[in-house]
Amino acid sequence: MSIFKKTSKKIAVKKTIKKDIFPKNKKSAPKVSVKRKLIVANWKMNPVDLKEATKIFTVLKRIDLKKVKDTVVICPPDTYLADFSLKYKGGKFKFGAQDVSVSNNPESTGEISAEMLKNLKAEYVIVGHSERRALGETNSVVAKKILNAVDKGLKVILCVGEEHRDVNGDYLRFIEKQLIESLDGFNKKYIANLYVAYEPVWAIGKGHASLESNDLHQMNLFIKKVLVSIFDRKIGLSVPIIYGGSVDEENAKQLIEAGEVEGLLIGRASLNPYVFTKILKSL
Ligand code: PEP
Repeated sequence: MSIFKKTSKKIAVKKTIKKDIFPKNKKSAPKVSVKRKLIVANWKMNPVDLKEATKIFTVLKRIDLKKVKDTVVICPPDTYLADFSLKYKGGKFKFGAQDVSVSNNPESTGEISAEMLKNLKAEYVIVGHSERRALGETNSVVAKKILNAVDKGLKVILCVGEEHRDVNGDYLRFIEKQLIESLDGFNKKYIANLYVAYEPVWAIGKGHASLESNDLHQMNLFIKKVLVSIFDRKIGLSVPIIYGGSVDEENAKQLIEAGEVEGLLIGRASLNPYVFTKILKSL
């Protein structure tokens, strides 16, 4: 169900976004070469022990990924990350962490640095997830984490997303601010290490139909527009945008195709290896 009333305001927003990103003399968006999609499994603080984690991963290992052309990244809690990432490095799955320290100072009790993650053979890290922002993480902390992570060679999945939507479009300004401030100081030379995950907070963890693909497509264009304004047209359009929020085996393909996103960030459904397999095969 769309959270928008079908007002002329909404249509106006869509038109403005399209006009701004793509030059007037082009009838449609420039052809972007087809890239492998990025499918990220965010296990959050699950499961409760390594035995359960290994059970999930054992089922995943059986997936015939030959037919799945996408890059699949498993982000378990750090307590299990080493067990998988060191043992299965170079295999069909990539591994990532769900967060990284803002600090490189070893006097940081309880923290895990980007360098430590890199040494565990993690290749990706999720930064600025809404569940971390809800604990007080600001855009400026997110920006520092990103700088640390890319500097150590990690690929960053920067999460942005509004808590709710309003008909005046204030949520668009909220996303713009999140992007601008979270990418403060980001050096273009690391651009190939950057992904943006659009995760509307209101659509996370609902376990049923999430965002409408039309609305996702509109947000995809809006995020591209902001990235173009932060960097430049070529670099801004090169950043893959993925979607997260109640993705399941029924909506995954539709969200990717109609939303024109380049991947998915999947929470709850990624903990059930059978459902996750169905999602991968559906794409
Ligand atoms: C998430 O928390 O990143 C997420 C997308 O969760 P879910 O798929 O359960 O909505």
